[in-house]
Amino acid sequence: MKNMKGMAVTQQITDMTREQLLEALERMRQRRAQWETLELQCMNAEEALLKKTGELEKRLRELDCLYALSDLVEKKGPLEDILAGTVGLLPGAMELKDIVSARLFVSGRTYRTSRFGETPWKLVRPVHAWGRTVGFLEVNYLEEPPRSPSALFEESEVKLVWAIAERLGRIIERKETEEKLRESEEKYATVVESTRDGIVIIQDHLFKYANPAMAEISGFPVHELTGKSFPDLFTADQRHLIHERYERRLSGGPAPPPVYETRIQRKDGTVRNVEISFTVIPFGKKPADMGFVRDITERVRAEEEIRKLAYHDPLTGVPNRFLFNEQFVLARARASRYGEKMAVLLLDLDKFKEINDTLGHKTGDALLQAVGKRLQESVRTEDLVARMGGDEFILLLQEIRSQKDAENTADKIVRAFRYPFLIEEETLSVTISLGIALYPDHGEDLEKLMKGADKAMYSVKATTRNGFETYRGDPKT
Ligand code: GH3
Ligand code: MG
Repeated sequence: MKNMKGMAVTQQITDMTREQLLEALERMRQRRAQWETLELQCMNAEEALLKKTGELEKRLRELDCLYALSDLVEKKGPLEDILAGTVGLLPGAMELKDIVSARLFVSGRTYRTSRFGETPWKLVRPVHAWGRTVGFLEVNYLEEPPRSPSALFEESEVKLVWAIAERLGRIIERKETEEKLRESEEKYATVVESTRDGIVIIQDHLFKYANPAMAEISGFPVHELTGKSFPDLFTADQRHLIHERYERRLSGGPAPPPVYETRIQRKDGTVRNVEISFTVIPFGKKPADMGFVRDITERVRAEEEIRKLAYHDPLTGVPNRFLFNEQFVLARARASRYGEKMAVLLLDLDKFKEINDTLGHKTGDALLQAVGKRLQESVRTEDLVARMGGDEFILLLQEIRSQKDAENTADKIVRAFRYPFLIEEETLSVTISLGIALYPDHGEDLEKLMKGADKAMYSVKATTRNGFETYRGDPKT
């Protein structure tokens, strides 16, 4: 078959004319030229593709490096980890990565790749933060690269190192600011969380924040305080005041006192004395009240105790002469304003020395205590009974209309001593001598009134004892 086909072609050629043959040759030559052109175009396209691929690879390396750097920053680790990590990324971003090493020098600290050596083939870029140079980023070849000294690094590599140095500057600024902020926040948080004073933020009369000390003082855990009504924390008589002062502070009206004492009611119902002070702060773009709450219960108790000790007679528990003096001044101011009378009653036990001598000092003390009690029971609650000292007591009767009123009370007191006292299971009787002086009739100051009452009392002592007398004034000289 093949031979038959070959014989047919040979027959065709021999049948061709010379012209036809030349024509065929020309067509073949043209086709070959076309092939050569195509081949050249292919080679050019291949070269362009290779170049493009190279560029893309460079771009990929660059993007890889920048992406890894963002990843490092996002991990929110310490700044040192980011700086050390960035240095480690750099060789991988270079075309001749096998002979590349990197070093970063920032604020006195150096970070470098594991293989690092000082060589002349390097690229150095300063790192700027806060408008000043804070360090240097260096990329170098460990051995001489196969490139001309004028272009040791590719243009894209130079751009990348510059971009990274610039980015590092911004990261340093941000991280250091964040770290400083966190440090100061931690410092404040430690103070606020560990102080013994309650610290609260109140907005729209509600607790927005309370520290552990506030929970301790109030007995409510922090999560129960948050969202709770602030005035409700106080005793019922204080709530209106707390509410009103909050309004005044936030509305900018007349300023309430910066510090004041009040009372809170704890979760268990017990009452604590507190001292509170407030200051207006912006909170969530709205004004709020920041308050400091100090538990002063112990201090108030101690003050009350001191006041009691200073103003009361330790033996009988009745007020002493200091409290009597103070109360007299207040009562006199009132009496003078309303044109009222008052009476000063001075009384002394009769022959008390005898009781002491026969029954002993201890029994004498018990009797004095019983006398104090009986005197208090014999007068109205608004009248004042005080022990002057020894076996002498003084009374102040307020709002009396006449001498008769005072004398009726004196009589009642004298008669109250007719009933014996039960002291240590023994009955004991004692009488009193009592003198009366009237305000303003017999004097306007306490000294004068006491002198008058004393004179009247001694007049009783000198005559009958067991009775009372009203001062009659000094005889005219
Ligand atoms: P008179 O009727 O004149 O008042 O006689 P009297 O014995 O009561 O004498 P006077 O009032 O002058 O003396 C009061 C006595 O009270 C003197 C003192 O021994 C006694 N005394 C003073 N303070 C206390 C005290 O705190 N406890 C006791 N048990 N006795 C006291
Ligand atoms: Mg006496």
